Amino acid sequence: MTVTRFAPSPTGYIHVGNLRTALMNFMIARKAGGTFILRIDDTDPERSKPEYVDAIKQDLEWLGLTWDRVETQSSRLDRYAAAADDLRAKGRFYEAFETPTELDLKRKKQLNMGKPPVYDRAALALSDAEKDALRAERSGHWRFKLDQSRIEWTDGVLGDISIDAASVSDPVLIRGDGQVLYTLASVVDDTDMGVTHVVRGSDHVTNTATQIQMIQAIDGTVPSFAHHSLLTGPAGESLSKRLGTLALRDLRENGVEPMALLSLMARLGSSQPVEVRSTMEELIEGFDINQFGSAPTKFDVDDLGPLTARALSGMALDAVADDVAAAGVPGDQAEAFWQLTRDNIGTRADLAGWWQILQNGATPLVDAEDADFVSEALAALPDLPFTATTWSDWTGQMKATTGRKGKSLFMPLRKALTGRAKGPEMAEFMPLMQAKPKT
Ligand code: GLU
Repeated sequence: MTVTRFAPSPTGYIHVGNLRTALMNFMIARKAGGTFILRIDDTDPERSKPEYVDAIKQDLEWLGLTWDRVETQSSRLDRYAAAADDLRAKGRFYEAFETPTELDLKRKKQLNMGKPPVYDRAALALSDAEKDALRAERSGHWRFKLDQSRIEWTDGVLGDISIDAASVSDPVLIRGDGQVLYTLASVVDDTDMGVTHVVRGSDHVTNTATQIQMIQAIDGTVPSFAHHSLLTGPAGESLSKRLGTLALRDLRENGVEPMALLSLMARLGSSQPVEVRSTMEELIEGFDINQFGSAPTKFDVDDLGPLTARALSGMALDAVADDVAAAGVPGDQAEAFWQLTRDNIGTRADLAGWWQILQNGATPLVDAEDADFVSEALAALPDLPFTATTWSDWTGQMKATTGRKGKSLFMPLRKALTGRAKGPEMAEFMPLMQAKPKT
């Protein structure tokens, strides 16, 4: 049984970078008919906020990334304490007392001597009496004692990985104030919940190395790991500072369509082209984590505009019926209105503008050189209601009387009737007009 999880920390809104992780784990589970867990990594009580948990759920729901169950780390502290006891009993957990300043000093010394800044395990040499003395003045933190061998795995994206555990500091799993850190909680959860596949960003590769040893130490089964590349901006620049502005809720506010975003994120950085799909099933069908490359992946938020327009143009009325109604369109005209506008909107919010024009008449857009022509044409407009032949009859008449043809005939009339240079087929537009242009 395939089990995956998306494990955000509820310390902020999720953004496009998180989405990549969520989507990949979701698709692996769904493709295999397995289980997708939403795991809330909230062991940091100061930074974790319930409102972010709600926001994360709303954002995932908006995209249709449904989870089978929610697990919350803050309600599993007993399990982490038990695992810590187990590691202590196995001699894989030790107490250390260095302050952040002392650790910093050690690292600087090592770097000055050209050595890697790996924790020197000084705490292992402390006698019981020395530990008691230290405990009297400060609280100790707990480190996992790595077995200093090579840690190897075949990564779903990066291929064969081999990391020398001696080049990595023994990870701190419990802080001096007793707070359990993510690495311990994650390992215990992945083991208890039978997680089979873990996809996360390549910033977690070293974590993975230490977690493999920890899973083995608590007698768990090591899952398959895949580390996707990190997103960069269009010119390859780091996105880390901009991710705050690429929150899913901002994209939603700006009218980005879920399928546009999902279609992009499900393929970006893989060997497959980005095509707008209309269902999650189609996206899942073609998804293969092994087709993703390890090079940083360029993300351009501006790509979402055209993809959103394309997603909308492929939709049937029922997918947008609420928005069409909210724009003020009566039910009996909804289908015709949607057929007319669906290729001519950037987002759903543009629907209201087209309905306003149809209902109240446009303010004509008239170039100076067309002014006489346009007033003559508007004066020659037949009475409402217009029909399917009004456009051809009227333009035919204007061609005959003015000698204009082609673009110089049609464009000024389009601009006069719609107030815009671009828009729907005019022959289909006119029958829906309920008012003549404003004069
Ligand atoms: N809470 C961790 C993070 O957001 C989860 C990493 C993981 O997938 O294990 O980075």
